[in-house]
Amino acid sequence: MPAVLIDGTAIAARVRDEVAERVHRYRERTGRAPGLATVLVGDDPASLVYVGRKRRLAAEAGMTDQHRHLPADASGSSIAAVLDELAADDAVSGILLQLPLPNRMASGPLIERIPTWKDVDGLTTLNAGLLARGEPGLRPCTPSGVMRLLAETGAALEGRHAVVVGRSELVGRPMAQLLLERHATVTIAHSRTRDLAALTRQADVLVAAAGVPGLIGAEHVTPGAVVIDVGIHRTDDGLVGDVRTAEVAEVAAAITPVPGGVGPMTIAMLLSNTVVAAERRAAAGRARPVAASGVPAS
Ligand code: NAD
Repeated sequence: MPAVLIDGTAIAARVRDEVAERVHRYRERTGRAPGLATVLVGDDPASLVYVGRKRRLAAEAGMTDQHRHLPADASGSSIAAVLDELAADDAVSGILLQLPLPNRMASGPLIERIPTWKDVDGLTTLNAGLLARGEPGLRPCTPSGVMRLLAETGAALEGRHAVVVGRSELVGRPMAQLLLERHATVTIAHSRTRDLAALTRQADVLVAAAGVPGLIGAEHVTPGAVVIDVGIHRTDDGLVGDVRTAEVAEVAAAITPVPGGVGPMTIAMLLSNTVVAAERRAAAGRARPVAASGVPAS
């Protein structure tokens, strides 16, 4: 039976509509708009496109757009200075440092300069720790987008076996934790996993985030599974994912296409995180002064 295609483009548009509505209410309450600041270092063509899209959709949702573009040879301290300036700016609700940085510059120390409450990519150590502990915080956008796709698909998670292929900080690990939060039984596979197909065939929900084009075929999927393809690869035949979509669609109950699956959700969840960040900050400001940690000072 051919699988249902999960329409990430339509679901992302719905999320952005919800965000625009929340932005509207926030403006009515506070008299100003949430602000998204994007920081781009260098001129990588793909990053230019991604940042341009994030800025455009943030503006369409009614947010203010602050953008900083630094040259590819910008020093770590000059990038840090820009992040510090945005961190101190009350008009900025969320800060996004576009990754990867050029020349293999380490992003970790720079990301840590972003205040937890403005970390709309959910990548700081503190937000990762809050997620690991199951406490409220800003969650990484791509895995959050996958959770929304699963919710919209009506995929059962509680007690079901979810297999995540990939263990990166950006996707695999937070993905596994979000699935765990929803009471799935979660297995993480990675590059050293033996007999990947034997493992993934046990999955009721399979999330492929290995960054290997066409890694997952029909032999990896049990009939009736829900398959989410996070991978994005530019090839001569256009964009493809980690999943061989046509053959897996013959086995799975539901599957995300590439393009038009997870991709559009990532930006939608970034916008959602930005409005959430603004709302939480406004609420914390109304309640008590906020300490440097982002936790209201007691
Ligand atoms: P990454 O390279 O940081 O991590 C890949 C992970 O996959 C690693 O943990 C590795 O152990 C595992 N892996 C590699 N080969 C494997 C194999 N043969 N079998 C099992 N596991 C294997 O990549 P990432 O940042 O997590 O991204 C993964 C993919 O998702 C990439 O294609 C990336 O472009 C895509 N991506 C898409 C979006 C989006 O918005 N749709 C966002 C982020 C990443």
